[in-house]
Amino acid sequence: MPLDSAPKPFQPRAQAARWKRTLWLLPMALALVFVGLIAYWAEVNDANDRAAFQNTLVADSQSVEAQLLGRQDTEKAKLREVASRLGRHHADGDAALQALPEVVAGLDRLWNRLVWIDEDKRVLARVTRQAGPALRTPDDLHIASAAGQADHFVVPVWRADGRADGQLLARYEITDLLKSTDLAWLNRRYQVDFVSELGEVIATTASAGRLPHGQRYERPLLAFKDTTLRLTPYAPLASWRKNSRTLALLGGLLLLGAAASQLLRREMARVARAVHGAQTEAAWRQSMEDSALVGLRARDPAGRILYVNKTLCDIVGYSREALVGQLPPLPFWPPDAIDAMMARNLDTLAGQSSTEGFESRWRHQDGHLVDVVIFESPLLDSSGRHIGWMGSIIDISARKALEEKERRHVEAMAQHARLNDLGLIASELAHELNQPLTSITSYSAGLQIALKQQLPQATELLEAVAAMHRSAKKAGDIVHWIRRQSSRSEPERVEVDLNALLRESVAQRQRPLVRGKIQLVWCLAPALPRRQVDRIGVEQLISNLLRNASEALAEVEGARTLWLETRLCADAAAARRWIELVVRDNGPGLQGRSIDTLCSTFYSTKANGMGLGLGICRAIAEAHGATLSAHDAAGGGAEFRLSLPL
Ligand code: ADP
Repeated sequence: MPLDSAPKPFQPRAQAARWKRTLWLLPMALALVFVGLIAYWAEVNDANDRAAFQNTLVADSQSVEAQLLGRQDTEKAKLREVASRLGRHHADGDAALQALPEVVAGLDRLWNRLVWIDEDKRVLARVTRQAGPALRTPDDLHIASAAGQADHFVVPVWRADGRADGQLLARYEITDLLKSTDLAWLNRRYQVDFVSELGEVIATTASAGRLPHGQRYERPLLAFKDTTLRLTPYAPLASWRKNSRTLALLGGLLLLGAAASQLLRREMARVARAVHGAQTEAAWRQSMEDSALVGLRARDPAGRILYVNKTLCDIVGYSREALVGQLPPLPFWPPDAIDAMMARNLDTLAGQSSTEGFESRWRHQDGHLVDVVIFESPLLDSSGRHIGWMGSIIDISARKALEEKERRHVEAMAQHARLNDLGLIASELAHELNQPLTSITSYSAGLQIALKQQLPQATELLEAVAAMHRSAKKAGDIVHWIRRQSSRSEPERVEVDLNALLRESVAQRQRPLVRGKIQLVWCLAPALPRRQVDRIGVEQLISNLLRNASEALAEVEGARTLWLETRLCADAAAARRWIELVVRDNGPGLQGRSIDTLCSTFYSTKANGMGLGLGICRAIAEAHGATLSAHDAAGGGAEFRLSLPL
């Protein structure tokens, strides 16, 4: 049972939901970003490596250059040593030159010809290497077949007197110089090529087993004219793009991202289905709860309302928001029953309420009372813990109203039966009384005539007989009226002045009024239009109102006043006129009882009352198209008003 209110509609979060629906792409996107960052970083790294490698190439080529220049310097120094010796053995010829150990060493080492020329370029001596040089050739330096490029070391020869004595030239082959230079350190990293200006490879470290990769670097050598040094690295510069392990790792990462995205997508779809299912179920349950005919409410152990369904809101007329969170006394408890309801509520919360339910009466927000049956049962959570009370409420107002209607109907039937009996008795009585009353009237009339003739001076006697005659006649008229009523024939209508009729009726009740020490206050409209009425009936009506007022005033200790008023009323808009006849007293009043209650057959608060008077009054009024109303008078007491349309 959800204790919160109705499930929230889905669409207000559509934007967020749309964003969330693509959330499953996040792992893939993150993997892509990560791979992109790594690629960028590796690219920058590669660029740095390339720059560093380029620097290394330049530095290495400069080292080679320096090494060759150093080698040349050494050879020149050795040649200078030979030249200095020549000064001492001047003009000893070729044999003398060849005899010099430095010359032998030079030829042995590098030079393939040594020529001494004078100032005029004439050859003074010359030595040529006979056999090929026994040079220590590195295994890895191969001399190209086109080899043969030569160069010279030239140094001046000085005589003992300090004058120049020609020049000494040592010819050597570039390849020989290269062969005798230790380039093994370079060869480990690069294929080293010395290229002539014609593009011929003079010397190379190329071997069939090792193939150079990567970009070659070329630099013209200062050591040899028109010769270029070319370095081609064996190991290609490592690039992340060619690193299969790195590529595999990055690819794997992307695959992982894709797999994670796919898994997340499936999971999100599953969760979305579950959420949708739960929402649908909640909506169903809510609509079932709301469409149920039974009101539902959940309360915590303290009686605070946690949940109400729509039906309960409809029963009491309060909104869900107004009810949820409320503690007893609840807003729909009738103010005059709060104590009793509090006591009942405490019983319920203590678990003492009957499982068969109990009836209660609540007050709708608009004020009308609602009869309900309440069934309370313990509210348990999923672990079986008692967390409050669940109440099912059935509105039985309609059933109660029906029962009341039936009860009234049965009562009315019984009353009708009794009235019927009463009518029969009254009719029978009227029939029986008619004859003796007619006799009394005739005899009293005869007696009056006889007395007037025989005892004209006995005035008191005459008055008594006249009064007897009047009373007998009145009684006869009433009996006649009752007989006409019971025979259902049309009442006799005569035109009367209502003021006069009121005065007459009061006069007839003069004695009890005087006996009751009731002061009369008259306020009659001066000229009332005459109106056709059932005279006896209206007399009975007024008489009954006067009797009721006298009896009510009998309970009053102080001054007893009876106001008698007639007035002519008009409603110009409705083109309607009517006469109002008001009988008001300062008795105990009606205490809120309505005219319907007072006119109910047999309704009486008097010990010997029959409870028929006002009912008959209203019937007489309605027979004239008039209304009889009653209410508590402003200054206390009761006010009855007959409104007789003209
Ligand atoms: P009964 O007089 O036999 O009781 P009625 O139908 O004439 O029957 O009156 C019904 C009830 O109306 C009375 O019992 C009384 O309670 C109430 N009633 C009538 N007139 C007055 C009045 N002037 N002041 C107070 N209560 C009145």
